[in-house]
Amino acid sequence: MIFDLDMIKQVYKDLKNRQQQTRKQIGRSLTLTEKILFSHQVDGNTPIPERKKSYAYLHPDRVAMQDATAQMAVLQFMSSGRKKVAVPSTIHCDHLIQAEVNARRDLSKALDDNKEVYEFLASASKKYGLGFWKPGAGIIHQVVLENYAFSGGLMIGTDSHTPNAGGLGMLAIGVGGADAVDVMAGLPWELKWPAITGVKLTGKMSGWTSPKDVILKLAGIMTVKGGTGKIVEYFGPGTAAISCTGKGTICNMGAEIGATTSIFPYDERMSKFLRSTGRSALAAMSNKLIKELTADPQVLKSPEKYYDEIIEIDLSKLEPHINGPFSPDKAWPISKMAQAVKDNGYPEEIKVALIGSCTNSSYEDIDRSASIAKLAAKKGLTAKCEFVITPGSEQIRATVARDGQLKILTQIGGKVLANACGPCIGQWKRHDVQPGEKNTILTSYNRNFAKRNDGNSATHSFVAGPEIVTAMALAGKLTFNPLTDYLLNKKGEKMRLEPPNGKELPAKGFAPGAQGYVPPAKDGSKIEVKIKPASERLEKLQPFTAWDGNDYTDMVVLVKAQGKCTTDHISPAGPWLRFRGHLDKLSDNLFNGAVNAFGHEAGWAKNIISGEVKKISQNARDYKARQIGWVAIGDENYGEGSSREHAAMEPRFLGGKVIIAKSFARIHETNLKKQGMLALTFKNPEDYNKIREDDRLSVIGLKEFKAGVSLKLVINHSDGSQDEIELNHSYNEAQIEWFKAGSALNLIGKE
Ligand code: SF4
Repeated sequence: MIFDLDMIKQVYKDLKNRQQQTRKQIGRSLTLTEKILFSHQVDGNTPIPERKKSYAYLHPDRVAMQDATAQMAVLQFMSSGRKKVAVPSTIHCDHLIQAEVNARRDLSKALDDNKEVYEFLASASKKYGLGFWKPGAGIIHQVVLENYAFSGGLMIGTDSHTPNAGGLGMLAIGVGGADAVDVMAGLPWELKWPAITGVKLTGKMSGWTSPKDVILKLAGIMTVKGGTGKIVEYFGPGTAAISCTGKGTICNMGAEIGATTSIFPYDERMSKFLRSTGRSALAAMSNKLIKELTADPQVLKSPEKYYDEIIEIDLSKLEPHINGPFSPDKAWPISKMAQAVKDNGYPEEIKVALIGSCTNSSYEDIDRSASIAKLAAKKGLTAKCEFVITPGSEQIRATVARDGQLKILTQIGGKVLANACGPCIGQWKRHDVQPGEKNTILTSYNRNFAKRNDGNSATHSFVAGPEIVTAMALAGKLTFNPLTDYLLNKKGEKMRLEPPNGKELPAKGFAPGAQGYVPPAKDGSKIEVKIKPASERLEKLQPFTAWDGNDYTDMVVLVKAQGKCTTDHISPAGPWLRFRGHLDKLSDNLFNGAVNAFGHEAGWAKNIISGEVKKISQNARDYKARQIGWVAIGDENYGEGSSREHAAMEPRFLGGKVIIAKSFARIHETNLKKQGMLALTFKNPEDYNKIREDDRLSVIGLKEFKAGVSLKLVINHSDGSQDEIELNHSYNEAQIEWFKAGSALNLIGKE
């Protein structure tokens, strides 16, 4: 079945002409990124956008949401007063299933625990016209790749790893729920026109190297901030040497370098994947548009003229990598890993090895991992640590169960978890280590910030390709190099593993597995959205108050975050996922993970009024009750990581007025703006040091708040001295209206 084929036909209908017009308009050839962006620009949006400077309005083709973020997005959509979504949209129940025992038991517990949330999302989907993917159907990005992604399309998703669909040539961008609400309400979606990084791939991978190593290497080059404001466009002969799902892995993890998204040009590997997933008619359509779905020849000839920067990776020379701990850009070629473990005192013993997730659970990934397990089982080897597999979708699970790979992986000790996020998002009830115990885990996932997987800040989480993770599970040691080292089997015989091999796609086609899709109702007008009045999981939203027309004065400093302050630090996941539809209850986790520059335990701060050291969220509630505005101070790349808008709504809900940081991560900055918060940056980053714990802060100039004009911060220190500094912002005129209205949603409601 091909979902929304008419919509895709509409996108493809006039592609050639539109691209021709754009070439004329801007007077040059086009990169693939530009082809997609320009062809989705709102008509009449005439000025040619300038990279990294101007904003443009676009019409995305579709929206995807996962269950943790969908709750708030749907609650916001309900407040908008719209009757039905304006573009094809889907909800995927993948984040709320906690991994503990095994797939069957964990899924059945989740169905019970999250019953009211699933009923809410299912009933809202039916009513408002969204496709609903039940718990157990799979992880959002894998399901999107298998069913919805199409080359040349533009989609947004309320999850940071939405770019996964770039593996099928779709420009897929992670956003906050409020952006999704705009698009579902039929409004244009605003994007700061990105810079474009060209990554030229040459050569061909072999041996132990896998597509994951391309992005692990790139993360090492670009760092977690290097992709901010940029789209990464892959080109060069090496692209054709990577499978469609391998390309998906690379694009998925582009989120780890902060890139807006990543994309590959359409090719035969994508066509093959479309045919294999029951979309031959779409493959035929895309094949005819190959010129339109790839960069212009002139771009490939002289890429330096079209890309803002170019990075070249020779796949033939690429070594497998292991990245981590605590940051995905700490990239170690596998030959250097053993030394890195010694030099840095990383725990050598691997406690748990985990493969799968939305990043690496394609047929190819599982087949290659199984090839290692098969040889190992033959030689009498088994995993030396806990070894778990999370299939990305029910389709994948059913297929690898039918074709025998799951059996082989379980033979060496593997345990199969539900088709869900589980340990990738902190939904993992571990029993093997105590909280606070230093330990190492190795995953084929994407993100490895502290506490991400299991809530334990002492867990050293490393990321690698699934083949490497499987091999390392057999050794149980992070110092093992499968390319050069020997293992001992039960008889004490020395043996070396052989490089993995695997099929790109199943020869017998995919097995559908259990039906997980529920279509929307034809007429949803009579359907009631289910929210229990006394629910502690869901709560209808009340609009935030509008700006009162005055400067923000005499505010206290709630927290001064030092170092990394990701959305996981601002609004942690794990046990808090259950409150993602209840803003009041969820707000008790505000800044729970933030390291306060003024000392105190992470998540704690001094209450300036009472002098007591309390949880930051308690202080925020106290200030709110006393009607004292507060400011949170951030370091570099504040709000990086997940796209969750809760990290922007909670501060607003608890009376926050302003976040001032050295710099912001893109999605989070937009989320703050949408919720009516002021997101400002120090003009001089050194001014961060001027903020003291008991300062009173005033933001001056709001009556003349304008795009491109800085604001002033007056800092009154408790010793009577005063500093005045300049604050920059990136608000455009439309975003200033959000601020004035109290939130972007308030503006939609007014319509
Ligand atoms: S990155 Fe992890 S948490 Fe996010 S969708 Fe993928 S599997 Fe789920």
